[in-house]
Amino acid sequence: MRDIKALLTQQRRFYCKGITRKLDFRIEQLNRLHAAVKKKEPVILEALRNDLNKSEFEGYLTEIGLIYDEIKHAARRLPRWARPQKVPTPFYHFWSRSRIYSEPYGVCLIIAPWNYPFQLAISPLIGAMAAGNCAVVKPSELAPQTSRVITELIHDTFEPEYIAAVAGGIDVSQALLAEPFDYLFFTGSVAVGKHIMAAAANHLTPVTLELGGKSPCIVDHDAPLAVTARRIVAGKFVNAGQTCVAPDYLFVHQSIKDDLLRQIETTLIDFYGPRPMENQEYPKIINARHFARLQNLLNGCKVRFGGEMDPERLSMAPTVIEDVQWQDPIMQEEIFGPLLPVLTFETLSQVIAAVNAQPKPLALYYFSQNRARQQRMVRSIPFGGGCINDTLLHVASPYLPFGGVGPSGMGHYHGKASFDTFSHQKSILNKSFRFDMPLRYPPYKNKISLLRRMFR
Ligand code: NAD
Repeated sequence: MRDIKALLTQQRRFYCKGITRKLDFRIEQLNRLHAAVKKKEPVILEALRNDLNKSEFEGYLTEIGLIYDEIKHAARRLPRWARPQKVPTPFYHFWSRSRIYSEPYGVCLIIAPWNYPFQLAISPLIGAMAAGNCAVVKPSELAPQTSRVITELIHDTFEPEYIAAVAGGIDVSQALLAEPFDYLFFTGSVAVGKHIMAAAANHLTPVTLELGGKSPCIVDHDAPLAVTARRIVAGKFVNAGQTCVAPDYLFVHQSIKDDLLRQIETTLIDFYGPRPMENQEYPKIINARHFARLQNLLNGCKVRFGGEMDPERLSMAPTVIEDVQWQDPIMQEEIFGPLLPVLTFETLSQVIAAVNAQPKPLALYYFSQNRARQQRMVRSIPFGGGCINDTLLHVASPYLPFGGVGPSGMGHYHGKASFDTFSHQKSILNKSFRFDMPLRYPPYKNKISLLRRMFR
């Protein structure tokens, strides 16, 4: 507790020196971060292998490559993003100019989850640094090896008064949350998100919550099945389904259900072989608690494909589940594992009504070649973001702000959205002394008639 208080005081003192406000400093530090990740690449990949059995390819693609892209994108555009933004001034403020200044919040806290343990700790940090803040990163204790590598990387690269990492579990997280940070950025579950928001309320600290939920994957009758199946399997089973934006369940047009499921089965064998659990490229479930939770969800389900599991190695095969009803246990919580329940529909109105009866999802995927129906889906269902005719990829673009809505989260990041998230927008009206309009000053007498003419 005392160490955390001391760290915060140290960071606050450093922030007040104004060094982090200088653009050169920010760009230099972002480049240092890039170089540090480059140097530690093999260690990061090894930690991801140990924590989640992530292959080198998956680790590089989903955890490291995206970080390089985010850093370069931010470092290159930072001078433009940070420039005060000129905005128009209404005519009644004669001789004034209006500008919006992006100002760092100060000292930020970033709390990360275990499923993409490196990327989800470092990606928000890039935004915090680009915006000129100091930051404390709390990686997830459930990915201990990656947590250790993150802590070392941050220790070796930055002075703790600027950027620090504090490893630990819920107790450490709660001790950090008790302190008055200037911004909280949390990625994790809906349940914990509520605790974070309650803690933030104590200090009226602004907060971004990147949460989860059940993201539907809807396939209409005109979708080309082979490519649709490949894109669904890739999105659902990457990281063994432990992805916040993974398709949680498949909602498929009745007329193509069997054909699509046959394609999904063929694709699963193409991707992972007939014994996926033996495949060295197939990740494992993070721990025994989550493994048991997934086992429970599968209880009583009609398995069409897969279903094999090995509790010793925490490995669970990609599994497709048929004849699912909305009231089944598997439809009551975010699955966050390699289980894919399948529901069917006949009309889009049914889909819209069914999805809108659930909490607003983090992501939604719709497969169809019909433009009008694509537009209808985008406009009729509230959700964080998503793809038409693909899965997950909206997350991998610095030009698309990423975040949830309602119970799937609040706030956005990635690219410029990260910079904006970690910046306070300070509005300044700068008035000349050349003219001083008497209208606004008492005594008001009969000035109201002029006021009425100005504001009709
Ligand atoms: P979690 O909420 O259990 O933990 C996240 C972090 O919060 C960890 O660092 C943990 O130490 C801390 N924490 C846990 N309990 C806490 C408490 N009571 N008080 C304070 N801090 C606490 O989440 P998780 O299991 O690590 O991650 C899985 C969840 O995260 C899923 O719901 C998933 O959808 C969501 N997620 C969302 C995104 C996104 O970008 N929206 C990305 C990845 C994961």
